[in-house]
Amino acid sequence: MIAVARQAKPARTAKPATPATLIFVRRRCLVCDAEQQRLEPAATDEIGPTCDSCGAPTERTAILRAGIVPKNPSAVALGRLGGLKGGRARAESLTPQRRREIARRAAQARWKRPKSSK
Ligand SMILES: [Zn+2]
Repeated sequence: MIAVARQAKPARTAKPATPATLIFVRRRCLVCDAEQQRLEPAATDEIGPTCDSCGAPTERTAILRAGIVPKNPSAVALGRLGGLKGGRARAESLTPQRRREIARRAAQARWKRPKSSK
């Protein structure tokens, strides 16, 4: 039996690592006391990121939301590609008459409601 030299598998091309989860935090500037809320990687230091108004370090005073999984912008764009088709496709498939009927109903429904709840 002939031993076949095993070729090393090609190294996996660097896949974009699963993005780290984010946290939504409140921070206070150590110098000017300005408060801000921001989205930052969960691993961000408690004291560190700079203040928007004076540039001094800020201190994290609260975590308002943890474990936020960032969306992949490419996937979002792909989704929009599909999502942007529906309205036009429907409008084109309806007869102008049916379209007017639907629009009239919608307008009547809108105007029926009291203004405050709109
Ligand atoms: Zn500041």
